[in-house]
Amino acid sequence: MPEGRIASNGVHWLQMTGREKIGWLWHGFSTRVGGGSLAYAGEHGQGELNLGFTPEDDRELVCRNRQWLAEAVSGSAETPIVTVRQFHSNLVVVVGRTDAGRAPLPKADGLMTAEPGILLGIQTADCTPVLVADRRRRVVAAFHAGWRGTIRRIVEAGIGRMRLEFGCRPEDLVAAIGPCIGLCCYPVGQEVLSAFESQFAYARELFVEVDPTDPVRARYPMMFLNQRAPGHGADGPRLHLDLVEANRRQLLAAGVPSGSIRVVGGCTSCHPELFFSHRASRGHTGRMMSVIGVRPAR
Ligand SMILES: [Zn+2]
Repeated sequence: MPEGRIASNGVHWLQMTGREKIGWLWHGFSTRVGGGSLAYAGEHGQGELNLGFTPEDDRELVCRNRQWLAEAVSGSAETPIVTVRQFHSNLVVVVGRTDAGRAPLPKADGLMTAEPGILLGIQTADCTPVLVADRRRRVVAAFHAGWRGTIRRIVEAGIGRMRLEFGCRPEDLVAAIGPCIGLCCYPVGQEVLSAFESQFAYARELFVEVDPTDPVRARYPMMFLNQRAPGHGADGPRLHLDLVEANRRQLLAAGVPSGSIRVVGGCTSCHPELFFSHRASRGHTGRMMSVIGVRPAR
């Protein structure tokens, strides 16, 4: 499990670890711990950090949770968080301070900016959040990559856009892949494999067969890698998709050096005490937020 930090306001959040620290960079991945939402907390639960305007939760509480996350990551609850209406696409938008709280929000699954003093936020509850920063040009980006967005190459497309808009060079980029549903907990249908095979030469390397009748195998599929052709019968081994590896491959394909890609880790479905998970909660769940920004010069 990744190591977390607990802010003075009670928000528990995660960061990528790395050899070098980037002084101008704000970034973090929220967990469900901290905050004031009770919508998903169970009967005697404590307040939680739901950051999505879900139908079950109180909008004011969510707004306050967002301020607490901004405070934890940037030091100020006033730091605006720019979000988008996510819809599993490969659309990416360049945003600035005036986009914070805009109505209606633009539809996209990636955001980027070079403007200091704002946070870009991507909401997830199993999908993969990917944060990218250009060390030299001080450009930041956040991407939402579930399996549909991953097939549409949201991360590759997003980095292409960073090059186009800001002249970013892939060798200057660092990336962090945040907590998402793990290979251990993500059975998918044959049609998902077929869809990946139609797009990626390395598609087969992103799937593993897991025997669902064996709990040890189901929990630790990497220990039981199977070389047979996957996907036979309903009761037989099931295909599991590795979204982290899929997005790591896209970062590599976009030219990001492998040593500059960090995987934060943590399966959202395996750790309901720490993460919101759409699958683990059968849809009744809150949202976490991954944020990144450029710290203003003092
Ligand atoms: Zn898991």
